[in-house]
Amino acid sequence: MSRKPNPDINLSEIVAVVRQEMEEHIGKGKVANYIPALSRVDPRKFGIAITTCDGQTVTSGDAEEPFSIQSVSKVFALTIALERVGEALWSRVGREPSGSAFNSIIQLEHEHGIPRNPLINPGAIVVADVILNERDPKLAITKILEFLRTRADDSSIQIDMEVAQSEADTGHRNTAMAYFMRSFGNLNGPVYDVLSAYFHQCAITMNCVQLARAGLYLASSGTDPISGERVVSEARARRINAVMMTCGHYDASGDFAFHVGLPGKSGVGGGILCIAPQTASIAVWSPGLNAVGNSLVGSLALERLAQLTGWSVF
Ligand code: GLN
Repeated sequence: MSRKPNPDINLSEIVAVVRQEMEEHIGKGKVANYIPALSRVDPRKFGIAITTCDGQTVTSGDAEEPFSIQSVSKVFALTIALERVGEALWSRVGREPSGSAFNSIIQLEHEHGIPRNPLINPGAIVVADVILNERDPKLAITKILEFLRTRADDSSIQIDMEVAQSEADTGHRNTAMAYFMRSFGNLNGPVYDVLSAYFHQCAITMNCVQLARAGLYLASSGTDPISGERVVSEARARRINAVMMTCGHYDASGDFAFHVGLPGKSGVGGGILCIAPQTASIAVWSPGLNAVGNSLVGSLALERLAQLTGWSVF
């Protein structure tokens, strides 16, 4: 089924409406405060960028201001790991919604060190282990960063080293989960190296324009429609979208599907990457989080965008 952009939709107008409607909400939610670099971010920031499959980009607000992509990076890391080991990945990580917090350790014991899905922390740590492949963590980090630079067509994308260091300094729970999984034999590399790769990928800084551009291959059946490059197979793009839809917002994934109806992935930096299959890649950023750790205003903005464009997959 092809869902071509509706020519009657004036995307610039819709984005302007969404932004205006968000005014009354901007500043709501609680900015992540587990590390200083995130807690310093102004809660009143709001940015949105949409890149369509025919190469048009529409932006509003703080769309060019860099933010910490945090768990949004898990989608790109998943892509790289699937390209590396293919379907074998699914013997080490599941693809079911977790119904619990992104850093919950409870399920891991019941399920013998196999994380529910690659978009919660333990799943992403296994994915980092696959990318690391028992080599130097710098290679794994470079691989993820280069992937994002290529996909965003922007070599200026960087890792925020202060954030990476703080993640490591405060990441006791992630460290616990990594050792726990290692005890079940589900981590091959040294825990310190795997976590180093994971903490650095979380610390990548991007803006909405770069993020929307980077996710475009997922909106376009695995091919970058601007460069023409095939990034992943059509089947793989479909599956990554399926995992984003069912697992991308932790224990609020059902709620996001209910309200927005699009595959999406959030991060505690307040960013959300959202995919309208065959149509567009969308990035929103607003740092205030809801109780589950997803951008409060970002989620509301995507809900309105989906309503006004009719882009929901349902
Ligand atoms: N760096 C964060 C962590 O590992 C990422 C969590 C998130 O964005 N939900 O705790």
